[in-house]
Amino acid sequence: MNIQKLKNKIKKDISYDIDISIQNNALKLEGVVENWEQVIKAGKIAAMSDFDGVINNLKFINQEKENFINTDLKDNKLNNKKYDVIIIGAGIIGCSIARELSKWNIKILVIDKENDIAVHTSSRNDGMIHPGLSPKPGTKKAYYNVLGNKLYEKKSKELNFEFKRTGSLIVFDKWHLKFISPFIKLRAKKNGVYLKYVDKKQINMIEPNIDKNLIGGFLIPSTGIISPYKTTIAYAENAVENGVDISFETFLKDVYKENNEVVYIETNRGRIFTKCLINCAGVHSDEVAEIVGDRFYTIHPRKGEIIILDKKTGNFINSVVSKTDFNLKNNSKGGGIIKTVEENLLLGPNAYEQPYKEDYSTTSKGINEIMNKHSSVLKQINKKDIITYFSGTRASTYKEDFIIKQSSKISNFIHVSGIQSPGIASAPSISEDVEKITINILKSKTNINQNIKYNPNRKGYPILYLLEDKEKNRIINKNPDFGKIVCRCEMISYGEIKSVIHSNIPAITLDAIKRRTRVGMGRCQGGFCTPLLLKIIHEETGIEYEKILKKGLGSNLIFKETKKFGDDFIERI
Ligand SMILES: Cc1cc2nc3c(=O)[nH]c(=O)nc-3n(C[C@H](O)[C@H](O)[C@H](O)COP(=O)(O)OP(=O)(O)OC[C@H]3O[C@@H](n4cnc5c(N)ncnc54)[C@H](O)[C@@H]3O)c2cc1C
Repeated sequence: MNIQKLKNKIKKDISYDIDISIQNNALKLEGVVENWEQVIKAGKIAAMSDFDGVINNLKFINQEKENFINTDLKDNKLNNKKYDVIIIGAGIIGCSIARELSKWNIKILVIDKENDIAVHTSSRNDGMIHPGLSPKPGTKKAYYNVLGNKLYEKKSKELNFEFKRTGSLIVFDKWHLKFISPFIKLRAKKNGVYLKYVDKKQINMIEPNIDKNLIGGFLIPSTGIISPYKTTIAYAENAVENGVDISFETFLKDVYKENNEVVYIETNRGRIFTKCLINCAGVHSDEVAEIVGDRFYTIHPRKGEIIILDKKTGNFINSVVSKTDFNLKNNSKGGGIIKTVEENLLLGPNAYEQPYKEDYSTTSKGINEIMNKHSSVLKQINKKDIITYFSGTRASTYKEDFIIKQSSKISNFIHVSGIQSPGIASAPSISEDVEKITINILKSKTNINQNIKYNPNRKGYPILYLLEDKEKNRIINKNPDFGKIVCRCEMISYGEIKSVIHSNIPAITLDAIKRRTRVGMGRCQGGFCTPLLLKIIHEETGIEYEKILKKGLGSNLIFKETKKFGDDFIERI
């Protein structure tokens, strides 16, 4: 749309008080509007321009300031350290890039403001390896998704994480089949995704438990599932095995540049020098781009709520089933019923814009809508099956595409931003491309070689529930700790918990252990095993009970001692 027309439209539709200017080849909006909906609406209109992006600095009346910093740590531990590459963000994108870069003989540091891997969006999603049908043809999303999906077998073998190519079904009632089906076929063709039409009879054979009134649909065999946090941790652990440093509770405060190049970054743990800086800060990547001096986009968080159902529902379906409107203008992946690698069912996510980036609250409205929508497809499920629910925020830009490129202003800065869904599915291909961009930047500055010690294979630690009885017995005979069950819902042993506490990225909060082992993720949600876990963390690390955290700052569980555990506490379980 012509720029003047666009400016007029924003002013007419939203407010004449909005200042509109052009900065860094982006359309910049400033001012105060009435509510969040108006902020979003103005941003979406601005995105219709041909500029690179939208800098939407609009505020709304009564907007609160969010505090993102989850630590009070301030020290000089990293002061004056020198790295070839610094990656900001230890989600799946930052960790997968670190792992690919560890093939090279260079010094790499990943920093994250939190105290563990995958604390934000990378643990707050469905773990679906999308086939690449939904993204608009020609977008980066479509390109990286289709390519990333194909790489998952290889990555899962190397990094030792569970990946199942379950396939997915998009199912329709009569109306949808007639009107939407041609669009789906066309999009599949353009994106290079194989799908097959299935009639009512075939649907019933593939998924015998779903609604018998569905008249047809598409089977997409390439869809897969993973555990997103375990996959992120696998990438990170392999990166560390190959020499990458990770520093938690470390956040970017400022950067120092010379001749349009980053020379060092300032953090709460000191000044760190780098030859290349990579922005993988998820929903905060626009703030990082602003600090570095090359912001041309705004991340507006798009929330998604997800329901987790009891494992007893796990055998109701075999794959991923969705009956969506498949609105091609809709930004959501539509949600669905997703069987997880651990055999729970997930329902959702939905998608709606919200002002706050780390607001993970859930709403009864959202949960009810998700439940109603999916229980109409799978009638056997009901609210009693809900174990818990959670939400995450997608890092959407107004242009609605991934931003993966070397900065055109700051020559050693790389944007890996706007990685909303399907970021998990795309991580393997995004990271391989960012490796190439980074190595090109480094080669222009210095001589670098391959890391001859690089080992693509991660051993990991035993996960008992995945093993045959014979292998389980072998491990238990070798180390009886693996025979003592701490979490009865998920059957997680004392040995597994000790292994992750002493792994190369030690898990020392309750949530960190949970992300690696699934302890506390079952029906009782940690009601039984939490005291045992506290005791194990205390014994294995020496951390005083009062200082053990569930997650970040202020999440201590114990305030003072009231009674003692018996010495045989663990022995008795
Ligand atoms: C509800 C929902 C469902 C989804 N479902 C799927 C799906 O099924 N399949 C799929 O492919 N994708 C899915 N996605 C998208 C996917 O989860 C994301 O694309 C992906 O996790 C993004 O990873 P990331 O590493 O970019 O971000 P994150 O995991 O958020 O990591 C960014 C990290 O940067 C750190 N950070 C930020 N600012 C700073 C700073 N200043 N200093 C230091 N550290 C900083 C943060 O602490 C954070 O740990 C879903 C997303 C949501 C919300």
